[in-house]
Amino acid sequence: MKKGYYGQWGGAFIPEVLQATFETLNKVYESARADASFWQEYVDLMGNYSCRPTPLTYAENLTRHLGGAKIYIKREDLNHTGAHKANNVMGQGLLVRRMGKKRVIAETGAGQHGVATATMAARFGFACTIYMGEEDVARQRPNVFWMEKLGATVVPVTDGSRTLKDAMNEAFRDWVTSMDDTHYVIGTVCGPHPFPEMVAWFQSIIGIEARKQILAQHGRMPDRVYACVGGGSNAMGIFQGFLDEPEVELIGVEAGGQGIGTGKHASRMVEGSGASAGVAQGYKTKFLQSAEGQMCDTHSIAAGLDYVGISPILADLGEKGRVRFAAATDSEVIEALSLTMRTEGLIPAMESTHAFVQAIKEAPTMAKDQAIIINMSGRGDKDIFTIAHAFDDPSWKAFIVKRADEYR
Ligand SMILES: *Cc1c(COP(=O)(O)O)cnc(C)c1O
Repeated sequence: MKKGYYGQWGGAFIPEVLQATFETLNKVYESARADASFWQEYVDLMGNYSCRPTPLTYAENLTRHLGGAKIYIKREDLNHTGAHKANNVMGQGLLVRRMGKKRVIAETGAGQHGVATATMAARFGFACTIYMGEEDVARQRPNVFWMEKLGATVVPVTDGSRTLKDAMNEAFRDWVTSMDDTHYVIGTVCGPHPFPEMVAWFQSIIGIEARKQILAQHGRMPDRVYACVGGGSNAMGIFQGFLDEPEVELIGVEAGGQGIGTGKHASRMVEGSGASAGVAQGYKTKFLQSAEGQMCDTHSIAAGLDYVGISPILADLGEKGRVRFAAATDSEVIEALSLTMRTEGLIPAMESTHAFVQAIKEAPTMAKDQAIIINMSGRGDKDIFTIAHAFDDPSWKAFIVKRADEYR
């Protein structure tokens, strides 16, 4: 198989001027991957800076409530900046240092990857520019605030629909003129080779830990592993711990939005999602696009799942039947979030809650001696505006109005 391809998916469709930059990146990445001391340096960094290894929590109350399989939760919410994104950005930070570059750029939609990248840049002493659609800058003010305070320059992108895909195009435009001293920190297992493979490698730390932890706590492999899928990095991270165990079923849960039938969703892999093969943003995968190849507007209550493409690695694993895909709707997410908060005292991010929805549906149909793992990719504190709105909480509204008045 050609390098960087997963079945028919993947590749590196990049402009001529970036060829040499990608050659350097490939070389540095391959040499780091072959060097056991690099991985050890990465593990030490994540241990000192980001709370790794994250725990695997047995959800005793939720298990009892549902009355089926034992439920274990992998706690990526306990990472610094509140999600698995730290694994990827800190890993790429170490590579940037190896390459001797001094500046990083990134695209961000919801702003979580932007905050993580700005954090990494502050820690490593890199200059940092974050591209963000103008629409998202307006919607995600708290994250923009933190990026700027962390020392990053946030550039609002006014092209197209002024969201994530436009920010990604702008970041590529920057890179074409700045590649000598700049690295583009792609936020998920998408984009041109080597990004999908490289980001999956950094995220594999989740699966490596989870595999050891479930063996120690449950005595054998889990029966099923659930993860939400935006671009696919937290899912690939945990799945890699179990890919070579054929009896472990792997389930990716996409954003069903208001329902697959409504067209207002961000699901690319479930039956009827309407996604089709295409080449964009440097790689080939299944995109939500029109017949003319125009990217569609996607919808999800979870901003981090709101993306038109999917990892080429997951497109292939789905096609081969190794990963089963499901979709969770916005209203199912709110319900599962409520249940998880009340039974376990955990507040999963809206994104992560998609995985909980499917697990909560399936656990009661399984035997009591079976076990499942849910990857809790991040914490929900960041979602307080959305969650409070969804619960239609009157005292929250009064609070917001009062704060607004103070600034008038
Ligand atoms: C960004 C994000 C996601 C989606 O990204 P993947 O690459 O699919 O993992 C999921 N969960 C959280 C908490 C996120 O911040």
